[in-house]
Amino acid sequence: MDCLFCKIINGEIPSNKIYEDEKIIAFYDINPEAKIHFLVVPKTHICCADKIDGSNSHLIAYIFEKIPELAKKSGITNGYRIINNCGEDSCQSVKHIHFHVLGGEKLPEHIR
Ligand code: 5GP
Ligand code: ZN
Repeated sequence: MDCLFCKIINGEIPSNKIYEDEKIIAFYDINPEAKIHFLVVPKTHICCADKIDGSNSHLIAYIFEKIPELAKKSGITNGYRIINNCGEDSCQSVKHIHFHVLGGEKLPEHIR
């Protein structure tokens, strides 16, 4: 499958990794939009939030359980924003579900 994040997961494309286990990987975004900006990605290829169902929701729950630990590990100490883009109108560019975690500085109050 021609999926950028599957290639990062299987090591074909290098990434600046924060964390990895059998279910998920977390790595810094190549084009950071905050002082600290990383992505948390399930190793299972799920295209987007639209395809979360009873068979894979445990992975999404696991990601949210891990985010506080990963935020701390990345140096975030004062709060963070979690973003998921789903589908065309959201401008999702990589069609493998991922959660952006942004922090390390005061973020703009409003984003669309
Ligand atoms: P999306 O727009 O799909 O929500 O987010 C995709 C994110 O992946 C973007 O923030 C983009 O900067 C990041 N990205 C794209 N290609 C690469 C890459 O090769 N390596 C890393 N680390 N991040 C990438
Ligand atoms: Zn994939």
